Amino acid sequence: MSQYKKLVFLHHPLLQMPRPILCTIDSSAIRHNIQVIKNLNPAAHCMAVVKANAYGHHINHVFQGLGAADSLALLEIENARQLRDLGWSKPITLLEGCFEQADIEQAMLLGCDWVIHSLGQLSQLELNSTLLRQTGHKPLIYLKVNTGMNRLGLALGQVESAVARLNHLVEKYDLPAPVLMTHFANADVSLEDKPPITPQEQYDFLHSVLPQGWRVSLANSAGALNWPSLAGQVIRPGISIYGATPGPKTAREYGLLPAMALTSEVISIQHLNPGDFVGYGSRYQANSVQTIAVVACGYADGYPRHAPDGTPVWIAGKICPLAGKVSMDMLTVDVTSHGAVQIGDSVELWGSYLPVDVVAEASGTIGYELLCAVAPRVPFESKDLCGDEV
Ligand SMILES: *Cc1c(COP(=O)(O)O)cnc(C)c1O
Repeated sequence: MSQYKKLVFLHHPLLQMPRPILCTIDSSAIRHNIQVIKNLNPAAHCMAVVKANAYGHHINHVFQGLGAADSLALLEIENARQLRDLGWSKPITLLEGCFEQADIEQAMLLGCDWVIHSLGQLSQLELNSTLLRQTGHKPLIYLKVNTGMNRLGLALGQVESAVARLNHLVEKYDLPAPVLMTHFANADVSLEDKPPITPQEQYDFLHSVLPQGWRVSLANSAGALNWPSLAGQVIRPGISIYGATPGPKTAREYGLLPAMALTSEVISIQHLNPGDFVGYGSRYQANSVQTIAVVACGYADGYPRHAPDGTPVWIAGKICPLAGKVSMDMLTVDVTSHGAVQIGDSVELWGSYLPVDVVAEASGTIGYELLCAVAPRVPFESKDLCGDEV
């Protein structure tokens, strides 16, 4: 911990001193995490999920680490275009399919594959058979089945006729054999906790309607990490490639490395007497002589406003408890037991020293939400431990 390097910010006499907050993205961690997941699922095609601008990491900052994936998946067609512009030539899958006519045309132009999760989307594809004939692109279709999640997907009873219609297009336009897909509801829950629907049950439902010659895709990160034998031929890890996990084990226990570090600095120190309060609503009250470090990160940077007193914050080598309500631009931390905290000391809100999942759990949410919510005003920087700064 002691060799943690102090962040170096860009200083120039003509530039204003920037606010000391930074989000550093390590694409070599992404590369490592994809390999960890592939090692657990050696026979599967690994489709890494980069929706929501790579779970808040920014596609351009993670791009260098994505090469180990066999394909990428997202929802937003403009980010599919960004991936092609960055030079991604392997498959891209649109996870919620095409929303409107323009999307089918764009998806064909960008050489995307896509999910069909409703009969309406299947009809939409049939109406576009001229496009299939005219363009050289032959999309791989993922037909999504509802096996108990009850969000997207065809009912089991709808699958047989939909498969017949899709197989007709596949033969007529020489498309690749489709993939039958579903989504696990409880792959992160231990069986001892008796989930209402188990991965095995969803696997069995899917296989009860599996057409000959089709592959299957079931696993998100939790499925790929905890149930490789049920994951299917195409796995779809998202959160795990960023080094966080839905559980039940910790990211470190799975061998995953965090790709994001949200860091800041101590900008003020307050010395409290017993009975003194801190921050809005005077939520925190000192019961002894205490030292409070004020950190330049607030909810307008994406830190969870609902974080309670005691939420861990890493300050210059030590984990200290949040003390007082998080405000828009600052948060306050009890560093009484730390000893020697000074203005300018490094702070990690989450990252290598403090897993995002730990901060999320303390503040009543999940790592996904914190990673996706880093605010636009926070500057991002890429770092690749292989040496090259991007
Ligand atoms: C987001 C998403 C995933 C990835 O889920 P994680 O829990 O982040 O691994 C997989 N499949 C589909 C269809 C998704 O929408």
